[in-house]
Amino acid sequence: MRITKFPNEFINAIPVLKSIQKAGFEAYFVGGCVRDTLLGIPLHDVDIASSAYPAEIKEIFKKTVDTGIEHGTVMVLDHGEGYEITTFRTESTYQDFRRPDHVTFVRSLEEDLKRRDLTINALAMDADGNVVDLFDGLSDLKNRVIRAVGDPHERYHEDALRMMRSIRFMSQLDFTIEDETENAILANAELLEKIAIERIHVEWIKTLLGKNPNAGVAEFIKTNLYKYCPEFDQYKEQLNKIAAIPNLSLANENQCWTLIGHEFGLSPQATTVLMRKWKSSKELINQVEATQTALENETGLLNSEVLFETGLELTLDANHIKHLLGDNQVTDQQVIERYDALPIKNNSDIALTGTDLIKELSMHPGPQIGEILAKVKKMILNGQLKNEHQELIKFVSQNY
Ligand code: ATP
Ligand code: MG
Repeated sequence: MRITKFPNEFINAIPVLKSIQKAGFEAYFVGGCVRDTLLGIPLHDVDIASSAYPAEIKEIFKKTVDTGIEHGTVMVLDHGEGYEITTFRTESTYQDFRRPDHVTFVRSLEEDLKRRDLTINALAMDADGNVVDLFDGLSDLKNRVIRAVGDPHERYHEDALRMMRSIRFMSQLDFTIEDETENAILANAELLEKIAIERIHVEWIKTLLGKNPNAGVAEFIKTNLYKYCPEFDQYKEQLNKIAAIPNLSLANENQCWTLIGHEFGLSPQATTVLMRKWKSSKELINQVEATQTALENETGLLNSEVLFETGLELTLDANHIKHLLGDNQVTDQQVIERYDALPIKNNSDIALTGTDLIKELSMHPGPQIGEILAKVKKMILNGQLKNEHQELIKFVSQNY
């Protein structure tokens, strides 16, 4: 099989492959970029594999950076672009079902492709577009099948993260999983406990953000992987409910956790605790707490105070979750219009400050100032006061 229509990323990188070949070595595009080219979808990154050792790559190119030299990766800088070139390698002595302790550089492409996780990820392509397909990855791509390279039990034993990756690609690409591969995950699911939660987290979120999260989440439950993720073993029924949401589609990680917290029946604060166990960032945790609070606010998302506190972006996320759950009362357009019409968008927009109260009304610093400003803000948002300095001063002097 030969690819004739190259994406631009490949066209730009071809001189780099040719330079390596001219020096007497092999060089190929490998992995995800070949898979995605064959599927006709945008590439994330272009990975190049070569028989040249890192020191040999550095002799060929003027500008290189040692980005991961101990794993065999050197970045070549060419016309303002950076290309990661990784020496063909095998990964030996896997301990604890995690990443290998050390890699061995080899001169054979076949050895390199053998260590890859899935047949669709084990394709290579040379500078002329010739595809190297040693494990029938092309037919699995055509039939839209997820299948481990070689013996799936062995592969999942070597690196248990591959089980999550298999589910992730199922969802991301909307593929089905081949029976033996699926059974091997079911048989080895508990090995996932050996994997760092940060790495599981990445794959779990990619599963939810994929093209077919309904199938991805269903498979995550069916294979028992959920049991070896923080806290999830208590929530099988709720995870099943998420898997069954009609046309489940999620656009960002904030939406994912807001949905999970809500469907698990957790308070926004309890969702925070769950997310900490998953080692989520503080920033994301705060966003989810605000989004879930808005989602569950009984006065609805068009309430000016809710909209002000939550902000437009997170309110739209909350509205998306509402729609997924069958509550279609408010459109995004209505949310945007109502937000645009808010008289103030930030606390700093209020035409009155604590300093004004102290200077102009001779008030004493203290908690009352904060209470007054909160009251004023509420009344501005509810249209009971105009956001004009004189009017606000008049209101405060008459009422306090
Ligand atoms: P994407 O970048 O879209 O997430 P990808 O296929 O490029 O998908 P990467 O995680 O970037 O995935 O890995 C690049 C390639 O390295 C894969 O296509 C696969 O061949 C190989 N690979 C990555 N992780 C593993 C692993 N845990 N076990 C075996 N091979 C792996
Ligand atoms: Mg990649």
